[in-house]
Amino acid sequence: MGWFSKDNNAEKDIFLRRRLDMVDRQIAGRDVYDSAVLDALRRVPRHKFVPVKYRDSAYEDSPLPIGNDQTISQPYIVGSMTEQLHPDKAKSVLEIGTGSGYQTAVLAELFGTVHTVEYFEGLSQKARRILDRLGYDNIEYYIGDGLKIPVEPAAFDAIIVTAAPESLPEDLINRLLPKGRLVIPVGAISQTLQVVSKDEDGRVSIEPLYAVRFVTLRFDS
Ligand code: SAH
Repeated sequence: MGWFSKDNNAEKDIFLRRRLDMVDRQIAGRDVYDSAVLDALRRVPRHKFVPVKYRDSAYEDSPLPIGNDQTISQPYIVGSMTEQLHPDKAKSVLEIGTGSGYQTAVLAELFGTVHTVEYFEGLSQKARRILDRLGYDNIEYYIGDGLKIPVEPAAFDAIIVTAAPESLPEDLINRLLPKGRLVIPVGAISQTLQVVSKDEDGRVSIEPLYAVRFVTLRFDS
């Protein structure tokens, strides 16, 4: 018994050290500056969201397979997209593409409520098990096409999409509250991360950020 707990603690320390290093070098070391976002990334154990066989690579700067031909996003991209949402405990966020649940955990650390939609039931259930075990109690889970299924409330302060549609879905812009922000990869062959923001009068502006590579957003016809 003693041996097991010792080993577990040693393993925990190694992952913690790697995680802090990942945030310093790959995320703060690039251009993510929001200290609340960086602290959230220091807290969320990314290795728990990847399949056991990839655990040793969990703190490298790359996406990894999570099943159903989907991937957990690269840590830098998670940090950068989250910062662009202007997170705040008083705000609610809609996430389309729960995937592994890693980005969901980072959002749950920073927002009041997270509404997360996943197309594949199996992925949603797996993510939920991990997030429940970690104690997150401010997450609502939905299964289906995030652009189609009804989610309450109808509008959000922030929306993040982690799979790419060919063009920007108008519907999502309509679901942004005034002063809201939508972060989404857009494009078929080459994709660009776009930030759509609404001012307090509801006027919309769109800012392209940088090139990205996400899985394709699925559509229920
Ligand atoms: N943020 C996730 C990224 C997962 S990849 C992570 O870091 O783990 C994108 C996810 O979006 C996949 O799990 C995919 O199944 C899901 N997805 C694709 N199209 C979707 C849609 N229309 N509605 C909801 N989820 C969708």
